[in-house]
Amino acid sequence: MKALVYPGPAVNPSERSTPKLLSATDAIVKVTRTTICGTDLHILKGDVPTCEPGRILGHEGVGVIEEVGAAVSTFKPGDHVFISCITSCGKCDYCRRGMYSHCTTGGWILGNRIDGTQAKYVRIPHAETSLYRIPTGADEEALVMLSDILPTGFGCGVLNGKVQPGSTVAIVGSGPIGLAALLTAQFYARAQIIMIDRDANRLEVARTFGATACVNNASGDPVAEIMKLTGGVGVDCVIEAVGVSASFELCESIIVPGGTIANVGVHGVKVDLHMGMPVGPQHFDHHAAGG
Ligand SMILES: [Zn+2]
Ligand SMILES: [Zn+2]
Repeated sequence: MKALVYPGPAVNPSERSTPKLLSATDAIVKVTRTTICGTDLHILKGDVPTCEPGRILGHEGVGVIEEVGAAVSTFKPGDHVFISCITSCGKCDYCRRGMYSHCTTGGWILGNRIDGTQAKYVRIPHAETSLYRIPTGADEEALVMLSDILPTGFGCGVLNGKVQPGSTVAIVGSGPIGLAALLTAQFYARAQIIMIDRDANRLEVARTFGATACVNNASGDPVAEIMKLTGGVGVDCVIEAVGVSASFELCESIIVPGGTIANVGVHGVKVDLHMGMPVGPQHFDHHAAGG
């Protein structure tokens, strides 16, 4: 079969053998839709040391069950499913606490520690708790967004960012994850959602998705602009949806004391917490970094 393989510095579709069941709890899924995540780009930059050259990339997808292991009873060949980017056993201490990404035999392993979804077939461990049935007639292309993008924007961004009714929210990065956070922040009666990006086209999309203000940080002084928009105090919640240190530092510059930074981006390098850095009339000794 053809697969997108992480070869180190360059990437090309390669010929690979079709995956086989390795455990009774596995399923083999024929992938009908998949997509590229910003995390895949971080892998290609060499930011993810757990992903070794030769790995088939991809952790998002929709497909049809091809084969199931003897212990899988909730799915059968022919079932339409979407694949969670997080594999979970449902039984370990972390899974029982709802922290599936820390599953001791799962977590984010697809397209990282094991072969992923950017291929004709993929092996899914812990199939019963890592796949979700798709209702008949559902839009499969839209459901690819449920593998990672929408739940990550909502869970890691909006929920961890503690967006509350009346919150002012800023989202740094207006790509798919940032837009997912923008959509789901509107579940709450927010006062303002400010989108920040360097690309005017992305900001235009954000405006149609409900952003109350857009700041282009390709030029000018984005911190000053956001301070102006918030009456000089900064925002209650900043969601970092890029994954570079400059964007994290921008988050630190616009958070109000007592506010929350939710970091969603995958950082390949360390970022600094500017505990003593003053901004406008405020200081940075009261905010917590979440994420
Ligand atoms: Zn992803
Ligand atoms: Zn587990």
